Amino acid sequence: MRAVIGGPAMSAPSAPPAPAGPRLLLRRLREVLIGAGDAQQRLDRVVKAIAANMVAEVCSVYMLRNGVLELYATEGLRAESVHRTTLRIGEGLVGLIAQQMRPLALSDAQSHPNFAYRPETGEEIYHSLMGVPIVRGGRVIGVLVVQNRTRRQYADDEIEAMQTIAMVLGEMTTGPLPGQVGGETAGQRLSTRLAGIALNDGMARGVAVLHEPRVVVERHVADDPQAERRRLDEALSGLRAQIDQMLDHPGLGGGGEPRDILETYRMFASDRGWVGRLHQGIATGLTAEAAVERVQVEARTRMAEASDPYLRERLHDLEDLANRLLRHLVGSADTAAAGRLPNEAVLLARNMGPAELLEYDRGRLRAVVLEEGSTTAHVAIVARALGIPMLGRVKGALEQIDPGDTLVVDGTNQQVFVRPGSDVLRAYGERVAVLQARQAAYSALRDVPAVTRDGTRVSLALNAGLLLDLPGLEATGAEGIGLYRTELQFMVRSGMPSIAAQTEYYRQVLEQVGEWPVTFRTLDIGGDKLLPYLAMQEEDNPAMGWRAIRFSLDRPVLLRMQLRALLRASAGRQLRVMFPMVAEPGEFVAAKRYLEREATRLRRLGEAGPSGIEVGSMLEVPSLALHLPALLPLVDFISIGSNDLLQFLFASDRGNPRLADRYDLLSPAMLGLLRDIIRQCDASGVPVALCGEAAGRPIEALALLALGLRRLSMPAMAVGPVKAMIRSTDLPPLAAALAPRLASAERSLRDWLRDYTERQGIPL
Ligand code: PEP
Ligand code: MG
Repeated sequence: MRAVIGGPAMSAPSAPPAPAGPRLLLRRLREVLIGAGDAQQRLDRVVKAIAANMVAEVCSVYMLRNGVLELYATEGLRAESVHRTTLRIGEGLVGLIAQQMRPLALSDAQSHPNFAYRPETGEEIYHSLMGVPIVRGGRVIGVLVVQNRTRRQYADDEIEAMQTIAMVLGEMTTGPLPGQVGGETAGQRLSTRLAGIALNDGMARGVAVLHEPRVVVERHVADDPQAERRRLDEALSGLRAQIDQMLDHPGLGGGGEPRDILETYRMFASDRGWVGRLHQGIATGLTAEAAVERVQVEARTRMAEASDPYLRERLHDLEDLANRLLRHLVGSADTAAAGRLPNEAVLLARNMGPAELLEYDRGRLRAVVLEEGSTTAHVAIVARALGIPMLGRVKGALEQIDPGDTLVVDGTNQQVFVRPGSDVLRAYGERVAVLQARQAAYSALRDVPAVTRDGTRVSLALNAGLLLDLPGLEATGAEGIGLYRTELQFMVRSGMPSIAAQTEYYRQVLEQVGEWPVTFRTLDIGGDKLLPYLAMQEEDNPAMGWRAIRFSLDRPVLLRMQLRALLRASAGRQLRVMFPMVAEPGEFVAAKRYLEREATRLRRLGEAGPSGIEVGSMLEVPSLALHLPALLPLVDFISIGSNDLLQFLFASDRGNPRLADRYDLLSPAMLGLLRDIIRQCDASGVPVALCGEAAGRPIEALALLALGLRRLSMPAMAVGPVKAMIRSTDLPPLAAALAPRLASAERSLRDWLRDYTERQGIPL
């Protein structure tokens, strides 16, 4: 059953009755901090009030100034030590509290190894000490300390009360204190480099923006605790309902989190301990938002201490959940897409869904950094369509990067530089200049034909899947769309598109493409491409499971709807359709029969249909290569899906990073298979193209041309480099040199091919 909304965990049975003390003190603090007098006078009154409330003989505030902690105000220590006594971060007990960002409570402070005696303070008579960091925006700005003469044990609720006071103090002492230059924080974070994997290549520089913004808590002290409790309960209900909804529709509006994370969220959101601590915060006089922030600070502290990766992960979940709860409290569940992005933004998220990425202003978005993600993730496909560099699996990104930090995302070397120094920025500038020069050279090739030095003409088409891809045609001079992955349009929607909506969509595609041909591939769903609104059963081997044509033939309604829409949208022009994952000719025949039936139906209804129809098959399952003699007479064209063909030929999951470099498309086995396919197609007069990623990689495209292939379909970004390679190549000698090597026992011919291109001066 789903979490019980309004159930027992919702009320606050675990919250103790509100102690009047801390609440009154918070009120008093607020009055003092916004009251009359200069900053120093107000701080003096604050320490007096805290000492009285905490029944301590001493209360002192140390603030960070010029990188050291300076005694700014004290009740109980000698007055002359104010602004004289200083401690470095890490020095003495006060420095230790700042360094560790953690409270410290000692009944015998002087026996602690870190104790640093400062004679001017006269503190030798005080034995016990309790101190907490004063934090603003996640950084230490000072330390609040109380001391007692007796060797007393500070109780947990006293430490908590002090933390609450310090938090309020941190947020209320905004602006520089006397002598401070600006707001100083401890441990200005250093430059760092985080590694990840490139989900989309490219270089970019920009300012970090959190996809799910953190709420800045402005009001800490509650006027009406009862009302705050109600607000918290309502926000918790909203949060639980949102998680339940996301669980019902994973991938919908929730960042596409995996199910196990959502389950963990749901568990935490109903956890009595967590909810109880939030209520406790309110009981001490905090607003609901401030209570969430308090609990969050605690989680962060524990996260810093935890070495167990599982625990760190869970604390991370808790932090994430608290952020969501804060957004519910302030009534804004929006992502950063709803606001105005900085001019050059690098989006930072744990994960996100493809539709969410599409909501951003493309003109301002420079790159995306994810803590999770994989190359086959839908959001990565969209990033490729948008031409946005994307780095995934960047561990600790959300911990290490603050909003507003400068980032340099380097997809080529799979890393992101956080708060980079001038050397990295200079190197980045130089790399960008080189890339731009190269891009300009590619743009200059736009109108020149893709012809080899020996006069062989090659047809270059684009792979597309969203309307966003289509301007690439004009920009690159490619000759049409060789692969239109229609499932992407289905994946970025929250509901099944009607026939009318599909028709309108395909019509737009055709209109934008103009005279060029578009090869529509029917839905390739299943495997990792799931539709949020279509329930499919989990499978042990989804890539080899009930997907693509198998699904379409078993549940033909969807296929027929799509074919009907494609036929209508192509009225008066040529329609090219192909089917994915065909494993035997019978599947192609059955699918084609649906197309013919829909075309007949259209004619019967008197509707305008296409001027001609070409029907092809993807060749991406090895069995079909063995069926070619039977298949070729039936098809108008073949498109080789080398991504899947390679994974099935070598029984090697294309999404598994451990296997990513194990088998090579440039292996004699794969190249031999491709050669046989190309030969048979040529002999039957059936046009054959290749639309897997290999077509867009110059060295692999070169091998394909040497095998006799003349049609390639690739992402827009690849057209320039591939065309440059083609124009520098003399094919006959390469074909002659390659042919005997297809019989070799080598793992891959990549090195040989690379040497060859270097000797021949072929750019890759
Ligand atoms: C392929 O498998 O090579 C292909 C083009 O299809 P997809 O990448 O969409 O599976
Ligand atoms: Mg495929």
